[in-house]
Amino acid sequence: SHLDTVPNAGAFDGILGVLLGIEIAALAHTLKLDLPFHLDVVGFCDEEGTRFATTLIGSKALANEFDPQWLNIEDTNGITMRQAMLDFGLNPANYAKAALNKNELLGYWETHIEQGPVLESVNQALGIVTAIAGAKRAMITLTGQSGHAGTTPMNLRQDSLAGCAELTLAIEQLAKDASNGEVATVGQIQARPGATNVIAGKTTISLDARAQSDDDLAILLNAIHTRADQIATSRNLTLDWQWTHAADAVACDTKIQHLFTSACKLNNQASPSLASGAGHDAMAIAPICPVGMLFIRSPGGISHHPAEAVIDSDVTKALSVMYSALVLYVKELG
Ligand SMILES: [Zn+2]
Repeated sequence: SHLDTVPNAGAFDGILGVLLGIEIAALAHTLKLDLPFHLDVVGFCDEEGTRFATTLIGSKALANEFDPQWLNIEDTNGITMRQAMLDFGLNPANYAKAALNKNELLGYWETHIEQGPVLESVNQALGIVTAIAGAKRAMITLTGQSGHAGTTPMNLRQDSLAGCAELTLAIEQLAKDASNGEVATVGQIQARPGATNVIAGKTTISLDARAQSDDDLAILLNAIHTRADQIATSRNLTLDWQWTHAADAVACDTKIQHLFTSACKLNNQASPSLASGAGHDAMAIAPICPVGMLFIRSPGGISHHPAEAVIDSDVTKALSVMYSALVLYVKELG
């Protein structure tokens, strides 16, 4: 997992997974587990992209996906990534040496806090990740006609804000009606000209939609687009749709999921499956080897906040399950 998190965050995002990796390696050593393969514990840098807005750079470097152009990106103080690496005592030219040979990899396992409320809601300590959700973001603009709030009769209006409000509720309903845990969020709205007594002529909303599979996401987005067209037509507005971000869904390896399930059984743990709505280093590693993730319950579903927490006994269970999975895997290869 990763070493960094966001500013004003909690103590467990990322780093807990790194520490669990170290503990598992230590247990294997103490219990003299004979490994027929090499075991690396990796602590990735800059998963969040807080400083340079480049996410997952550590894991992408291992997957040979580090883009050298990133070295020229400046932080808010005008310091380039290249300079930041030099200041830290690193040679930026060495990034390519981090790349792993995919023919030498058996798999990548990561434990991470859930960062959401699902496991707590089913009263379970641990969950097995089925996939890391694909996500798409767009800025959707409806354009009508600004007008005087007092003199324009209701039936002669082209109110872009009312159109976006209707679309926002439609987006919420379409995601609720989707059957595989899809989520869609309108988190921003900007109405112009933005005055109390003026009908908004142009309104933009943001859309963030996520799903376990690219097909599920495409179906949801198609439905949203169709609805947006209908609303625009019925309200005599024009629709403009700008994509701003797209990340494909990444499936976790089914064999690793089964292994984690068996390890949970050995430890008398239930093993609910869930998709991850948040991105993780495993996404970047998936192109070079099978990946698996174990989630640990997040009390209150809180993360990226000082109140981020874990229950001690959940962490102990995660350690036992991951170690059992390692033992099972060694036997399987045996
Ligand atoms: Zn994280």
